[in-house]
Amino acid sequence: MAEYESRFEDNVDGRFYVDDECINCGLCSEHAPEFFRESDEGGLHFVFQQPTSEAEIELALEALEECPAMSIGDDGLTSQNTVMA
Ligand code: SF4
Repeated sequence: MAEYESRFEDNVDGRFYVDDECINCGLCSEHAPEFFRESDEGGLHFVFQQPTSEAEIELALEALEECPAMSIGDDGLTSQNTVMA
């Protein structure tokens, strides 16, 4: 299960993120290239744009379910609001 505290810095703020368990398999960016992509340096994927519509969120959730490393989280907003300073 992805952990918000272990997310890559590259992720844009919001509900979805990729954490450091990513094995860079590329499934998420194949399934939902509007939201996931590989970093310029390679070696990891991250969320570069958050989904907004119901259809977009469903696509991101499908990518989350397909991720073999379970490194995609969808609790970014909740965790962000509860993270201790
Ligand atoms: S599907 Fe998961 S492990 Fe594969 S690149 Fe995306 S976030 Fe990384």
